[in-house]
Amino acid sequence: MPELPEVETVVRLLKKLVVGETINGLEIHWNNIIAHPEISEFRAKIIGQEMLDVERRGKYIIFKLSDGNLVSHLRMEGKYYVYDQAVDKDKHSHVIITFASGKEMHYNDTRKFGKMYLYEKDEDLAILSKIGYEPWDPKLTADALMEQAARRSISIKAFLLDQAVIAGIGNIYVNEILFEAELHPEQPVNTIGKAKYAEIIKYTQAILEAAIEAGGTTIRSYTSSLGVTGLFQQSLHVHNRENETCATCGSIIEKIRVAQRGTYLCPKCQPLK
Ligand SMILES: [Zn+2]
Repeated sequence: MPELPEVETVVRLLKKLVVGETINGLEIHWNNIIAHPEISEFRAKIIGQEMLDVERRGKYIIFKLSDGNLVSHLRMEGKYYVYDQAVDKDKHSHVIITFASGKEMHYNDTRKFGKMYLYEKDEDLAILSKIGYEPWDPKLTADALMEQAARRSISIKAFLLDQAVIAGIGNIYVNEILFEAELHPEQPVNTIGKAKYAEIIKYTQAILEAAIEAGGTTIRSYTSSLGVTGLFQQSLHVHNRENETCATCGSIIEKIRVAQRGTYLCPKCQPLK
C-alpha cells in the first residue's frame, strides 16, 4: 500500500505533468472508483475545469481545480500514468481524464479499491476532516502527542497507525520509526515519556524525508509513468527483515503481530518497559 512518501512522490510528479491542463473528457470503466458525487454529476462537473495545483493531505491526492477539488486515494494498488497523447487503454485503467492539449491521465488500479471524490469549490472536504497532523506540522509536538496518548492505553504501534493522530504513515514506516526510537511496538502509549515522543516526531520526519528523497531519485528514469516501486525498501532496518541481524546490535530481528499488522523489531534494541 502506498504510504506518505510514495503519495508525495506521485503528487510532485503529477504537479509537473498536469498543472495548467484543462479537462475536456472523462472515461469511467469501473464505476465504484467514483465515490462522490454520483457518476453523472461527477462527469458533468469535472469537464471544463482546469488543473491549478496538486497537493497531498495524509495519503490523499488533491487535484485543485478551477471550480473544485478532485480528491483521490490510491488504497492498495492505485497508480497514475500521464501520456502526451492518446494511448490504448490498459485493462486496469479504470478512469481516464483527457485534456484539451491532447494529454491523457490514466488511473490504473489492479485491485480496484481506490476512490475518487469531487467536491465543489466551497464544499467541505468531508473525507479529509478527521485526518491527524501532517508530520511537518509545527503543531505536531511531543506535548500534543502526550495529550492524545494520556486518554488511551493502546500500543504505540496502533497509536501511530491511527490516521487521526499523524497522517500518512503506515505499517512499513511505523516499524522503522519504532526501531529508531528504540520503542517496543506493544509499549502502551500512556507509559511513554515526553522525550520519547519528541524522538518519535524527529524520526518520523527523518525517515519520511529520506523515503521521499529515494522516491524522487528512483522516479527520474520514468517519463510518462508514475508507478512508484519504492526503492527505499533497501534502506529499511527491520521491516521485512525477519531472522536477519540487527545493524545496531547483531541480534536476530523478530516478527510479531501487533494491531493486526506484521510487526518487525529488534528485541534487544526495543525492549518492552
Ligand atoms: Zn538491535
